[in-house]
Amino acid sequence: MKPLGPIPAGWDAIDGVLAVAGKPVTAWVEEAGGTPLFVYSADLIRRRVAALRAAMPERLALHYAVKANPFRPVLELFAGLVDGFDIASGGELAMVGAAGIAPGLVSFAGPGKRDAELEAAIDCGVTLNLESEGEAARAIAIAGRLGKVPRLAIRVNPDFDLKGSGMKMGGGAKPFGVDAERVPALVRQVIASGAEWRGFHIFAGSQALDAEAIAETQAQTIALAARLARESDAPVPHCNLGGGLGIPYFPNETPVDAALVGERLAEQFARLPDVLRDTAFCIELGRYLVGEAGVYLARIVDRKLSHGEVFLVTDGGLHHQLAASGNFGTVVRRNYPVAIATRFGAGVEEEASIVGCLCTPLDKLAEKGGFPHAEVGDLVAVFCAGAYGATASPAAFLGQGPAREMLV
Ligand SMILES: *Cc1c(COP(=O)(O)O)cnc(C)c1O
Repeated sequence: MKPLGPIPAGWDAIDGVLAVAGKPVTAWVEEAGGTPLFVYSADLIRRRVAALRAAMPERLALHYAVKANPFRPVLELFAGLVDGFDIASGGELAMVGAAGIAPGLVSFAGPGKRDAELEAAIDCGVTLNLESEGEAARAIAIAGRLGKVPRLAIRVNPDFDLKGSGMKMGGGAKPFGVDAERVPALVRQVIASGAEWRGFHIFAGSQALDAEAIAETQAQTIALAARLARESDAPVPHCNLGGGLGIPYFPNETPVDAALVGERLAEQFARLPDVLRDTAFCIELGRYLVGEAGVYLARIVDRKLSHGEVFLVTDGGLHHQLAASGNFGTVVRRNYPVAIATRFGAGVEEEASIVGCLCTPLDKLAEKGGFPHAEVGDLVAVFCAGAYGATASPAAFLGQGPAREMLV
């Protein structure tokens, strides 16, 4: 048997069925009109934000990275919970607009911003995290044509990365940000253009569980911002320290110690260099805020044996949960936390592989896990599905189409 990932805290059972917001998931499936279905818990999101705020210094603002989960009710919920939003495309700009989020709270990072996207962002007052000198020149020219003062920050490609992070976003040659040594010249150019200078965005990595590594990266980030401020001879109104906090997906992974990260950051804030005395700091998080608050539900449509192995075939699959199948940025496939939702908490009775309905051997939701005996009609729950699920999976593959989604 292969181990399954850890089921996140906060999920209950009612009469042996996985439950959320006081109802068994079978009731939510009925209300949604069927499976496959993503259910996101507003309560778990609220609790996560509150716990994080309690752990972090008060001075630190909290931003939500929209790409983790742009479902409109989720964005509307976050509008009342966080201090800002980070987007990565013109499409996400339209989504935050539709959710009624004020453009002044939004910053836009991401390589390859097209002129139309820059124009839309400048026109409504979104802050652009500039990814290159070329993008800066285009943004300044577009603002001139529109007769607007653009709000410009610079995304710095730091000369370090976040140790142990699942996704390295800094250090060495990268398509993201401007290499640190070229930043001071660009700062002077941005300020000379008459733009509203917003400061730095320094994102060194994501999906880390080691609090010490995150704290060290934040200390390095603050030191880099201070050095760049001195070299540019400019103030730093805002400094986005990036993200980093991850969630446990796989066997033997444990939650990040947010309290320790907060303590270390408070120590940093207590002895900031003069150049950063008045700087507003934020972090931007996606999966840490929503990942564990979502579950993906699929129904078993077939139970079969092949060479003595049990296969539970569901109506869902990698087209909604690419990451759980092991095909989204993982080298070795390991099992996500997966359970039989309609026999939740029951003991292990057999070894089974839970697969999707796609005609490809890649479509595995759980490989050789230990489960209670499940039959056709039972529901399967894939946990940690709140982030990078619905919109980070190829829903159109094999003509399947998107899953249902609901926030409860
Ligand atoms: C993807 C991304 C995030 C969010 O990462 P998570 O791992 O979901 O917290 C934050 N900032 C930037 C610039 C990103 O690209």
